[in-house]
Amino acid sequence: MPLHRSLWLQETLPDQPVCDPLVGDARADIAIIGGGYVGLWTALRIKELEPSCDVAILERDVCGGGASGRNGGFVLTWWPKFPSMVKAFGRDEALRLTKASESAIDEIGAFCDANSIDAEFVQHGWLWTATSRVQMASWEAVVRASEQLGLDTFARLQPAEVARRSGSPMHRAGVLERKAATVHPAALVRGMREVALQRGVRIYENTHVDTFSREHPVVVKTARGKLVADRAVVAMNAWSVGLPELSRSIAVISSDIVATAPIPERLAAIGWTGGECITDSQMMVCYYRTTRSGRIAFGKGGWGIAYGDRIGPNIDRNQRRARLVEADFRRYYPLLSDVPIADDWCGPIDRTMDGLPLLGRLGGRNHIVYGIGWSGNGVGPSFVGGRILGSLALGRKDEWSECALVDRRQRYFPPEPIRFVGGQLVRSAVITKERAESADRRPPWLAVQLAKLAPSGLEDKE
Ligand SMILES: Cc1cc2nc3c(=O)[nH]c(=O)nc-3n(C[C@H](O)[C@H](O)[C@H](O)COP(=O)(O)OP(=O)(O)OC[C@H]3O[C@@H](n4cnc5c(N)ncnc54)[C@H](O)[C@@H]3O)c2cc1C
Repeated sequence: MPLHRSLWLQETLPDQPVCDPLVGDARADIAIIGGGYVGLWTALRIKELEPSCDVAILERDVCGGGASGRNGGFVLTWWPKFPSMVKAFGRDEALRLTKASESAIDEIGAFCDANSIDAEFVQHGWLWTATSRVQMASWEAVVRASEQLGLDTFARLQPAEVARRSGSPMHRAGVLERKAATVHPAALVRGMREVALQRGVRIYENTHVDTFSREHPVVVKTARGKLVADRAVVAMNAWSVGLPELSRSIAVISSDIVATAPIPERLAAIGWTGGECITDSQMMVCYYRTTRSGRIAFGKGGWGIAYGDRIGPNIDRNQRRARLVEADFRRYYPLLSDVPIADDWCGPIDRTMDGLPLLGRLGGRNHIVYGIGWSGNGVGPSFVGGRILGSLALGRKDEWSECALVDRRQRYFPPEPIRFVGGQLVRSAVITKERAESADRRPPWLAVQLAKLAPSGLEDKE
């Protein structure tokens, strides 16, 4: 079956040539496996700190072919996970990292400006909403934590204002995180690739890394070549579940998106013209935003679960799941019931138990580092990840390599097949629970109990 690209990649890729694959033997100071946001921000950071460092990226597809070219384009901070971070890292470090994730949004915008990347960067905030009774005030713990620090991170909006801005009375209440932005995901990642090439990063596309040694120097083997490097960075997102050291750190789930045809006049009619990105407060979160051309991209996380490292075509596109996502879109926007869906696609999410990323030294080795587990919030935070991995890869001791996210304690998923079977069971319970709740009905007791076993979500909900 031919690969189905996201609409974002369809709009971006045809204009760009592809880098040659690795053929034969090569050498580099630092090899980066994976050419998404994490690999590219890391490469750019290394070049900023040490311009003469010879960096090579090995990407099995094209840069952005993974989650970075398929996502919803929400550029969020770590504020929604702030209470969890305080618990794990202490207040000062949690605040430092969360502030870094805020600055990352400005820096991504500035990077696009400075390099003339038209990534459709729009900074008009994130509406965190409630679409059922049980979701009301889900944000309270997060918003209160920010207010107690005297910060105005979130605006508390009147319910009518939430309905007005979102263009649908299905949104019963909500808050606005002012700092959040949206981007055209593929334009951003492909723009980053261009800048990396200009700064002397070598990129090998269509180059699948089959294995890499754990000794120093690292020998990276691909189908047609071999690269020897002093240090390596694993930036493989969900695909890193295939590495024995990381296999139980993440579970791979799908996130599925449908995109409407351009409907700018319909958006104007319902009043969703402010450029805010929106989520509901479900565990299997619905997320939606508008685009410059007046489309709606509407996604949902968690319908699909991968067995171990089997990330197959089912995670590139699944039209059964797309119809389920479309049903949620129609429910939230009944006034747009006649609007055609132009495309659908999906991609893998590298979900950790606590919803926060994992960065560190692979199996304790200083010369192989990794950054995974973005858990559905990687567009903005991967910029911070690039800083951390840049410092780790260069062996620097600084505020990034020593931050609390590095080599932190983690909770592991069970091994297969328990993870898959258990995951299906818990997911079915979450679906049953959230279907009942979205109709303001009391969910069955067993579903509620089983749903509690789900890993922590995108936000710390009250
Ligand atoms: C449908 C969807 C919607 C999302 N929506 C949002 C959102 O709105 N906001 C948000 O913040 N986050 C969102 N995310 C998550 C976000 O996209 C990711 O967290 C982010 O892109 C992670 O960047 P990455 O570089 O780690 O991953 P990727 O972009 O997946 O990069 C990893 C790369 O590694 C390559 N690779 C894997 N194995 C190998 C190998 N053996 N050899 C060589 N290369 C290899 C892959 O091809 C891939 O290109 C979404 C994700 C999906 C799938």
